Amino acid sequence: MLTVLFAAGAARWPTYEPHLRAAMAEAGLAARLVTDCAPEQADYIVFAPGGDLVDFTPYTRCKAVLSLWAGVEKIVGNQTLTQPLCRMVDPALTAGMVEWVAGHVLRHHLGMDRHIVNPGHRWDALPPPLAAERPVTILGMGELGRACGQALAALGFPVTGWSRSPRQVPGLRCLSGDDGLAQALACGQIVVTLLPATPETANLLDAARLALLPRGAVVLNPGRGTVIDDAALLAALDSGQLGHATLDVFRVEPLPQDHPFWAHPGVTVTPHIAAETRAPSASRVVAENIRRSEAGEPLLYLVDRARGY
Ligand code: NAP
Repeated sequence: MLTVLFAAGAARWPTYEPHLRAAMAEAGLAARLVTDCAPEQADYIVFAPGGDLVDFTPYTRCKAVLSLWAGVEKIVGNQTLTQPLCRMVDPALTAGMVEWVAGHVLRHHLGMDRHIVNPGHRWDALPPPLAAERPVTILGMGELGRACGQALAALGFPVTGWSRSPRQVPGLRCLSGDDGLAQALACGQIVVTLLPATPETANLLDAARLALLPRGAVVLNPGRGTVIDDAALLAALDSGQLGHATLDVFRVEPLPQDHPFWAHPGVTVTPHIAAETRAPSASRVVAENIRRSEAGEPLLYLVDRARGY
């Protein structure tokens, strides 16, 4: 009988418990699911940041730590964690991100705000361009970037994707490297960042790179707050270089009340709700990884500790 320690916060346990039990049974695993146990008894740890577990040293028997979060920046640098770490790739989380990105791209593409808030009742009969005339750039061609890119391409947007290593994604123009980034930014009327928080991506969108965008471009950030230099973003909005920024993630969350993003008319703040891990599908991902580990098969979504994602 395996012992699976749920260390993803007491508040999540009532939601996850029935789904994890069902998923373990479906995967043919005999497992004891617990929220507390002697460290040396845990075979696997289901993890999310914010809980009590910060020292993994005594978990000597643990074969893998399975994150419920897609972004692992809060745990990947933990020196006590020597066990394999898997991040979450949840089909329902991906679906949520595709909906958030498509919704916010369409808001800006169609100029919806002009008609939704129109106190002067202006008959502003300016038809928007077609999607085919609105190039979108996505920084990050991982699980989420690819899914969002393909959904936008299906709506007719010409999509350019950028990643660290060269990628080929059907229907998208894919670029990589520094030259690729400059090209990707130069054409993006709407730029979506879906990069992880790592030392390499910190302040990637700084003043110099924001200046490469077409004037009036819109930035959507549902990735991580550290990827954008806040001060440079505000300056680019003030100068008209950027037309708008819709931000879901921030350096400090919740976003402090006195942060200038709240008051700036060119910024829309959403409170880290772009894509949530969903218990039914995420539990199946956890159970499948435990099944694989027990069968001696490679783990899915293993984090590369050196790369940080
Ligand atoms: P992923 O599959 O690991 O993909 C990450 C992508 O970023 C890859 O294409 C990777 O390039 C690229 N990348 C990483 N470092 C780079 C660098 N230095 N230069 C250029 N490209 C780089 O991650 P994912 O599942 O798509 O998730 C992306 C991020 O979304 C997560 O890390 C998380 O922070 C965020 N997220 C936010 C929410 C929310 O609710 N707001 C929800 C879930 C996730 P390669 O292809 O070359 O590896």
